[in-house]
Amino acid sequence: MTCRSTSAMLVCEQCSLHQWRTQVVPGHGDPNADIAFVAEAPGGEEDRVGEPLVGPAGQRFDRQLAAAGLDRSDVWLTNTVLCRPPDNDLRRYPDAQLRCPPLWLHPVLRQVKPRVIVAMGRTAGALWFPGMGAHELSVLARNTGEYLVVGSLHPSAALREGGDWNALDDAIVRSIRRAKEVLR
Ligand code: URA
Repeated sequence: MTCRSTSAMLVCEQCSLHQWRTQVVPGHGDPNADIAFVAEAPGGEEDRVGEPLVGPAGQRFDRQLAAAGLDRSDVWLTNTVLCRPPDNDLRRYPDAQLRCPPLWLHPVLRQVKPRVIVAMGRTAGALWFPGMGAHELSVLARNTGEYLVVGSLHPSAALREGGDWNALDDAIVRSIRRAKEVLR
């Protein structure tokens, strides 16, 4: 089983996002992974397929992971919220941002028990580094007692920057390598 979902999670209606989703997008990957990646929210492709990071940002992320010597099957991938926000704009749904992490993200992370979490982008970063901007995250790490949390830019930042590969991809790869260093 690669997907730690419960039947309650898959029918959750605890925030407004349930009205618009095609399906809940649970975490995916190795359920015993040492590294977990937390991105923001499912987009259109994730909502259709039911897996995190399978759209354009996810494809870019696969290349960033590969550059750091990892594959998505080696890690746990998830989002701060498990349902797609309309127009991919999570800022308009504070109820989801408040309710989903304590209901589903944190309990599942406690089951997976990664040694390191990579918080990708401002929204995921805000869970562990409140008030920090996306670029500041790239140099931050914090021991919560349960995990080491490493900050990173979100893979979509590199996608927006353009080109086949750019300086933001390099920054993300450096964050992934910092996370890997902890496991040595
Ligand atoms: N797809 C995801 O699953 N998460 C994001 O944050 C962006 C795209």
